[in-house]
Amino acid sequence: MTDIHSLTLPELEALALDLGWKPFRGRQVYKWLWQKRAAAFEEMTDLARDARALLAARFRVFAPEPVSRLDDPDGTVKLSLRLEDNAIVETVFIPDADRRTVCVSTQTGCALGCVICRTGSLGPGRDLVWHEIAGQVLETGRRTGERITNVVFMGMGEPLLNYDNVTRALVELNHDHGLNIGARKLTVSTAGIPGRIREFARFPLQAKLAVSLNGADDATRSRLMPVNRRWPLAELIPAVREFTEVRGKRVTFEYVLVAGVNDRESDALALAALLRGMPCKVNLIPFNAFEGCDLTAPDPAAVEAFRDLLLPRLPAVTVRRSRGRGICGACGQLAGHRPPPTR
Ligand code: SF4
Repeated sequence: MTDIHSLTLPELEALALDLGWKPFRGRQVYKWLWQKRAAAFEEMTDLARDARALLAARFRVFAPEPVSRLDDPDGTVKLSLRLEDNAIVETVFIPDADRRTVCVSTQTGCALGCVICRTGSLGPGRDLVWHEIAGQVLETGRRTGERITNVVFMGMGEPLLNYDNVTRALVELNHDHGLNIGARKLTVSTAGIPGRIREFARFPLQAKLAVSLNGADDATRSRLMPVNRRWPLAELIPAVREFTEVRGKRVTFEYVLVAGVNDRESDALALAALLRGMPCKVNLIPFNAFEGCDLTAPDPAAVEAFRDLLLPRLPAVTVRRSRGRGICGACGQLAGHRPPPTR
């Protein structure tokens, strides 16, 4: 039986007409699902009993089952969620001041194999459908009792390789009859798919873009991110520049610092030269270790030295305080429940 969450608002309105109701009934159901987090049709008390029975005969209200929940002392929560086909994806809740951010997965594995990322060691998985992506936000809100304010598409998978479902999820997350999360509070993070970046620049919803860079020359970047061999910097950077021009907004570059690989003075200077003139922010992330990977993070002094080289040369540079490291919920540490192979 179909999960009713898979119907968008226009589809629910069409269903209402189909059932001989007024279209606003469709909106009511949508609000029950996405705003009031209803887990059963019986909860939809402003629908007549026979209307609820009619829906229950055709649909079910599915909620992903949390197979584990890990709480970090810093407030970060990692949920492992079982989907209808038993696939498991990880979702992370990150509270910070007045922000309540959820980091969602978009695929059940990842074909891109970045060596700095635990998901990359899983290999390819399937694409998540839009409501499985948005459903992670719903379930996290339900499990933590919080109103979610921000969503980052930085969990398992490459969002721009699941473009249609990701953009559909963005629209539904933004909908004011649904979770109502502002477009500028939605961020899609990519390993760098130039054609999709250009397409996303023209997508009507003005969600933000983050690009995982991690190297300022092709040799270094390809070592950490094999996707760079397919789409090298000479193709990626012009696409990102075009994004900033079309949108008139800056982008964020994520740069995971790995000791002895991409943290030298020459790397910082090459990075500043590569991004010269681009409206951007560089987010430095000391590498988060995971089992099966022998890379290490630079010491804090080296991170500061790298940042200090960039600061006078680029518009904005920050060092990200990694959250949820104790529960393997930090950047690059998500991997469902499959143990990663040793590399
Ligand atoms: S960093 Fe992103 S694109 Fe790279 S392997 Fe991990 S999930 Fe895939």
